[in-house]
Amino acid sequence: MKCTRCRERAEINLRSHHAAFCKPCFILYFQRQIERTIAKEKMFTPGERILVAVSGGKDSLALWDVLIAQGYHTEGLYLDLGIGTYSSQSREKVERFAQSRTVPLRIVPLADQAVTVPTAAQFTRRVPCAACGTMKRHFFDQAALDGGFDVLATGHNLDDEAARLLGNVLHWQTEYLAREKPVLTPTHAKFVRKVRPLYRMSELETAVYAFFRGIDYIIEECPNSVGATQLFYKEILNQLEAKMPGTKLTFVQEFVRSVQPTFAAPDGSPPRECEVCGMPAFASVCSFCRLLHEVERKKLSALSTQQSVLPPEAEN
Ligand code: SF4
Repeated sequence: MKCTRCRERAEINLRSHHAAFCKPCFILYFQRQIERTIAKEKMFTPGERILVAVSGGKDSLALWDVLIAQGYHTEGLYLDLGIGTYSSQSREKVERFAQSRTVPLRIVPLADQAVTVPTAAQFTRRVPCAACGTMKRHFFDQAALDGGFDVLATGHNLDDEAARLLGNVLHWQTEYLAREKPVLTPTHAKFVRKVRPLYRMSELETAVYAFFRGIDYIIEECPNSVGATQLFYKEILNQLEAKMPGTKLTFVQEFVRSVQPTFAAPDGSPPRECEVCGMPAFASVCSFCRLLHEVERKKLSALSTQQSVLPPEAEN
């Protein structure tokens, strides 16, 4: 098999694009695809400051690598979620990546912010991913605002987008479908634009790019992802893709191009400001502060139950 571009020996065959590439041509192809997506969707311009949310996985590090290579002003943001060795190892990968490219990195350890994902899940009886989502949204928005960034970029790839779209279509979650687009414009002065430059690049393409570029990323998935519905949707989509290459791309691309614009913008007034933290909120207190309050309340009640069952001598 020969490289579609230079006719040298190809190392990767992309059935969905009817193309094959050698290593240098694939790197070029990947970077150009992202550059085109950024320009076509008007994600950001070279003068803007971009905060890249990095998890230590292949997608976010590959995205950061491309943006650095293209000369954008970027800074990484890593949230240490406090999920045991998964968090410590992924943090190490991110730190090493930033050092190797001498790019700035912000680290927010959730343990210093009063609550980690495991404690939130333990004390609120929410599934860890629900608590994690609330915390990520809050700290991403807060960091983007504090640092005066123009844009927040995340590494969601085509497989993530296709799985999310499938889930929302299967349950006709029209409110979510209305917001499912690669660029989210801010609805409040304290929010920044949120963009997903990898939304047309498959998980396979991103993994190959990371490998060809020698990016050292965490291979293990977060332990809380085991059994996630999202992974089941991904499996189904992979089966469809194997039979009909290009299905995922058509599914997502056509939704974004022709279906998503037919959804009305979500109803309701723009967010106000949370009475506790001052960040935008759709109620008097934002969902993050409510979560924090619930954790504190349950912690205190667990402590007082413990104390009331201690024998008198143990209390001294
Ligand atoms: Fe957070 Fe769940 Fe993702 Fe783990 S799998 S990082 S808990 S959202």
